Amino acid sequence: MAASHSTGALSACVVNLPPDLREPDSDKLQRFIKPLVDDLLWLYNEGTIVRTPSCPTGRHVRVVILAVVCHHPAMVKLSGFADHSHRMLPCTQCLIGRVQIGTEGWRPHELRCGQLHKELADRYQNLESKHRPTFVKNFATRWSELDRLPYFNPVTMSVVDPMHSCLLGVTRTLWYSVWVKGGKKKFEMPRWFARLPSQIGEPTGASLTSDEWKALAILYGPTALPHVLLSAAREDSQRVPSKAADNFLKLGTVLKIWMHREVAEEDSTRSRNLYSEFFEEFAEIYGHENVTPTFHWLSHMTDQISRSAQSTRSGLFCSKD
Ligand SMILES: [Zn+2]
Repeated sequence: MAASHSTGALSACVVNLPPDLREPDSDKLQRFIKPLVDDLLWLYNEGTIVRTPSCPTGRHVRVVILAVVCHHPAMVKLSGFADHSHRMLPCTQCLIGRVQIGTEGWRPHELRCGQLHKELADRYQNLESKHRPTFVKNFATRWSELDRLPYFNPVTMSVVDPMHSCLLGVTRTLWYSVWVKGGKKKFEMPRWFARLPSQIGEPTGASLTSDEWKALAILYGPTALPHVLLSAAREDSQRVPSKAADNFLKLGTVLKIWMHREVAEEDSTRSRNLYSEFFEEFAEIYGHENVTPTFHWLSHMTDQISRSAQSTRSGLFCSKD
């Protein structure tokens, strides 16, 4: 990279919303982000001059969005997708159907096309309001102001955030929904095992903070639980399959890799394979009824981490200024 050019990343969030603001639907949300996108377009096309102590005459600075990172419900509204309940296209990344998520969500499916999504979003914007629900039902696409950004790819640049999906999503589902509450298809733990979560806050077991879920998934859980699960399996393998311990350790290993500040290439490949094994095994042990869509969102996590690393390294908006 030329010495005259440097690239940095910033993350931004709104910390002071009006207390009476209700969650807007996707179309209303676009009115809020329109002024922001106007500024982003100007910052991309024209740029701005920023004066610093080391450069008192100013430097030409341009800005692009690298990724939109939110929990899934916010992301689909912001980037113009249908939500997780869409029958044909619930995933923002691939063409998997809703019922397939539980039965084969761990397998790769054909990816969605960002350009096609933008063309459909354009059609949505030109429709009368009364025709829009049918359009979403058929194409799982809405208009997003972000689509006005020429470099924005709504498929590859919309990322489900790891805190909600890994910790408050899959980890919480496995621990609290399946182990503690028994899941949708009843998974019966020995009575003495069910007491274990009381030591980490039952009945508030479902409302641990993300840091507590993280400690449970990658620190305390892998240390203590395999012994407990294997003992339970030896006691009654009908109630607790012996694979449960190994399955939990796979999840813990994957989360530990993903939550490093940097992910090496070999770890990235390992996490992709290991997560796929964990997911398929989870459905086999606990039943596909207990698979939530978040399990599938995470099957795209390795690619999303890899793309983020590439875009940060290469610099999306190299210029000679
Ligand atoms: Zn997908």
